[in-house]
Amino acid sequence: MALSEFEVIERYFSSVGERRRDVVLGVGDDAAILAPPAGHELVVSTDTLLEGVHFFEDVDPESLGHKSLAVNLSDIAAMGAQPAWVTLGLTLPSVNEAWLAAFSKGFSELAQRYSVQLVGGDTTRGPLAINVQVMGHVERGHAWRRSGAQPGDLIYVTGTLGDAGLALQLINRGNSLPEQLKDGLLERLQRPEPRLAMAQSLRGVVTAAIDLSDGLLSDLGHLLKASGAGAAINLDRLPLSSSFLQSKRVLRDEIPADEWQLLPLTAGDDYELCFTVTPACENEMVQLLSGSDVSLSRIGVIEEGAALRCLYEDGAPFDLQQKGYDHFR
Ligand code: ADP
Ligand code: MG
Repeated sequence: MALSEFEVIERYFSSVGERRRDVVLGVGDDAAILAPPAGHELVVSTDTLLEGVHFFEDVDPESLGHKSLAVNLSDIAAMGAQPAWVTLGLTLPSVNEAWLAAFSKGFSELAQRYSVQLVGGDTTRGPLAINVQVMGHVERGHAWRRSGAQPGDLIYVTGTLGDAGLALQLINRGNSLPEQLKDGLLERLQRPEPRLAMAQSLRGVVTAAIDLSDGLLSDLGHLLKASGAGAAINLDRLPLSSSFLQSKRVLRDEIPADEWQLLPLTAGDDYELCFTVTPACENEMVQLLSGSDVSLSRIGVIEEGAALRCLYEDGAPFDLQQKGYDHFR
């Protein structure tokens, strides 16, 4: 016999993640009671993942549990905040216990790793949809915003770009790659790692930040608009993974050269951070990150105006429109 809604909650969602001392009341009442630290502001973000839009029907449920939390934690990282509590709105077509166990495991493992507790949610029947809301906190007045970049600030990104986008292309095209290569890229699409540790280390030096969910050009564009500034990006400085570069060699004849150039600029799902620092803080920043296992790349500089210019190392411009980039894609 299928479990009732309450049995589902009790079995799979009543003790997910870390048991936090600032959770006065968690799952089980009409609402949760939380105690944010004195002198801090609450930072809240939510994201919905829909089957057929954000993930494939046959996606591994454990990865899906991970990703639905990871994309929200990434937003908290981009605010320079510390995540603490999360709620989960789950719409399920039916009660599939194997699916629920795997989903809950993927979600819980990530929550545990970043000391986040699941404190409530909603469970309903319908086409599969996952809504996650993460709440965190940051010292009053110290959150990062998109609007803080000034001309002259240096633009940095964490990790590597375009891996998840490439994985998605490979799935859609049915391209064959050596298994090992494919697995590395798929991992980036299905199990993104929120850059929370890095964000915590950088707290004092960042002037503006955004996380990369829709592609570098689009997301950096949001940061520029909010800051009332433009930027120049050096295409030869975009960080690419060894899997990406190896795939490019193997699939040279199958994916056109312009596509390879556009992937790290326009593909979504990277969940890296893009942020700015003043040149005066650059050395301090490098020092703050000396122990980090995530790479950091300086990809450009903030400029006066409103344009986002893409240039090669030698100064030659890259014409996006001509290369098939469409702002509304
Ligand atoms: P109500 O009808 O009062 O809104 P519910 O029956 O929806 O309460 O939920 C009962 C309790 O279980 C609440 O504390 C709610 O936050 C929690 N809850 C429901 N669904 C989930 C879920 N998917 N994950 C975590 N907690 C959940
Ligand atoms: Mg109620």
